[in-house]
Amino acid sequence: METSGTSRPERFFPLFSSISNLSGVGPRATLALKKLGVERVRDLLFLLPVGGIKRRKVFDLVSISLPEIITVEILVKSYQQTKKPGPIRVLTSIRKSDLDLVFFNARLDWIKTVLPKNEKRVISGKIENFQSGMQMVHPDYIVSSSESSTIPDFEPNYPLTKGVSKKFLIKIMLQAIDKSISFPEWINESIVQKFQWPRFKTSILMVHNPKCIKETLFDYPARERLAFDELFAHQMSLALARLHFRRIRGVSILGSGVLTKKLYDSLPFSLTASQEKAVNEIRQDLSSELRMNRLLQGDVGSGKTIVAFISMLTVVEFGAQAALLAPTEILAKQHYKVISELSEKININVILLSGRDSGLKKRSKLAQIQDGLAQIIIGTHALFQENVIYKKLAFAVIDEQHRFGVHQRLNLARKGINVDVLSMSATPIPRSLSLTFYGDMDMSILDEKPKDRKPVKTAVMPASKLELIFDRLEMSLDDDRRVFWVCPLIDESEVLQVTSAELRLEIIEKRFPQKKIGLVHGQMSSNDRDKVMRKFIKGEINLLVSTTVIEVGLDVPAASIMIVEGAERFGLAQLHQLRGRVGRGSEQSSCILIYSGRLGKNSKARLEILRDTDDGFKIAEADLRIRGAGDVLGIQQSGVPKFMVADLQSHSHLLEIARKDSQLLLASDPGLTTPRGVAVRDLLYLMDLQSSLAFIQVG
Ligand code: ADP
Ligand code: MG
Repeated sequence: METSGTSRPERFFPLFSSISNLSGVGPRATLALKKLGVERVRDLLFLLPVGGIKRRKVFDLVSISLPEIITVEILVKSYQQTKKPGPIRVLTSIRKSDLDLVFFNARLDWIKTVLPKNEKRVISGKIENFQSGMQMVHPDYIVSSSESSTIPDFEPNYPLTKGVSKKFLIKIMLQAIDKSISFPEWINESIVQKFQWPRFKTSILMVHNPKCIKETLFDYPARERLAFDELFAHQMSLALARLHFRRIRGVSILGSGVLTKKLYDSLPFSLTASQEKAVNEIRQDLSSELRMNRLLQGDVGSGKTIVAFISMLTVVEFGAQAALLAPTEILAKQHYKVISELSEKININVILLSGRDSGLKKRSKLAQIQDGLAQIIIGTHALFQENVIYKKLAFAVIDEQHRFGVHQRLNLARKGINVDVLSMSATPIPRSLSLTFYGDMDMSILDEKPKDRKPVKTAVMPASKLELIFDRLEMSLDDDRRVFWVCPLIDESEVLQVTSAELRLEIIEKRFPQKKIGLVHGQMSSNDRDKVMRKFIKGEINLLVSTTVIEVGLDVPAASIMIVEGAERFGLAQLHQLRGRVGRGSEQSSCILIYSGRLGKNSKARLEILRDTDDGFKIAEADLRIRGAGDVLGIQQSGVPKFMVADLQSHSHLLEIARKDSQLLLASDPGLTTPRGVAVRDLLYLMDLQSSLAFIQVG
């Protein structure tokens, strides 16, 4: 049976037709609406009110607090225009009070038709004090008394843009709502019951017809339901991808434990509890016949490398090969060094495959990989070039996985038959974001640091104290300490950034003529960059001026001072990453965050968070609160879902539920063929995620 239709059924066509098909929407409005993210009728349905206006119905002007938006019946008395052209005042009365209606740029004869003398009309608008009386400038509504019910008591506000007025938006919104259709329920009934959520179509009607401000808030049930729809659809697509990836591999990798025991015996420390837990989770995955796709997330210095190494040992014990993929040569080399040292007492064959290898050396390495002599292979993307043939690759660890494209990751996976994949990331992110962006992976988190790690002392200082900073720096350099100096982030211009770094280099060189100072930036070739970095690692350079290119994960234990200029322009997570470059040795390390200009209260509070905590996960939560998801992840590329209704903070409690339920559903209905499964397909069509239906196994 064909079960994975990935094109949208016909009944969705009206919802997915262009908004230009709505009446009154011309080419200009189409363009303007696009700015609001609205291109199709469906998009309009998910463009939700942001607050609204209460129009209080009153019968006199006795009890109102000015200014206020009111709806009231008036009697038109006379017209006044003191000079032409000039504003027209319409004098009216309400019981015993007077109210002037004021019109600018209006024609008197038009006014006389909508507000005829000696007649009653119901008007609505903002009433305010003017001189000794009260006035209303340009009422929003003027209707006859019999039509007064057409004026809403509460009116939603929508996000607007030039060329899209509120009136216009409401007009086309009504047409869009007309096209919305009823669907069978795709949410688990018990969840619907628990939250008392209305059905989908009812929810759409409710969110667009709020009766009060409360009904425009994130926790309004109808709105919550639509947020859940969105999150659940996204989690479903991730769960489908996960299931697809995990499809039976058929081999369960069980280690003998011999090598691992030797390693444990030789380690100068014992694992932290969260390292133990991660190792167990990974071993569990390895032993399962399903394929592993796990993310190991841990703050800088939390000890991911050893966890990866222990996992690789299990694979080696089993008689297969493991590969460790690093984003740059220098990081590959660093991993190689660490892992070689760790394996000294174990007697296994670890090799580094570098893009720089050539001739005999290269041939020998390739031969070792092909005949299985090489047990652990470390390298950059050179690892999956065509000429690299593995005897039995079963496990791949990908360091700093976000720096590799999906393509490269897949390439490596192809080198072995359905290899297990462990990704590692040193960017702690809040749970809600993890679930959203890495929801297709299982997760292990290292949320504690090895004991007796000295936190980096952090200071926040204004640029005006640069001289003082230089003085202190001089002492440190005389003590032979190694220093990172990171130059300000300059928006959108690599070149400007480089110029500023070069300028800074000049100033520092003048100030410290005796010291060896180096520069790295993004315009240098990676070869040249590596050269300078290596000099810094060896201590041939004392102070390294850089743009933000310095490597995540770069380990220079001798470096103990990190100075960041223009710190206010960095994200908290990014600053935390930079700070993580020091504090890796035995010395007490320090970090100075220099801000330029006068800092607002908020910006200062932001930097102070960093000064006060060393916990990457806490910092990431704060960053999410302050800056939003895109910035926390540091990714702007496509593939980052933009939610229309869901708010990752206000609705984070729904994410967990959505994730669990999507996995639960797929466990019992992997082909989405039950009535609920079929309803969920509708949801995926509606949310434009039907491509994930391709992950369903056909037949
Ligand atoms: P990261 O997670 O940033 O990659 P590393 O794996 O580089 O961290 O580990 C940082 C340092 O901590 C290394 O020198 C490592 O040997 C050490 N380390 C790892 N685990 C422990 C532990 N449980 N106790 C003490 N030191 C540890
Ligand atoms: Mg690391």
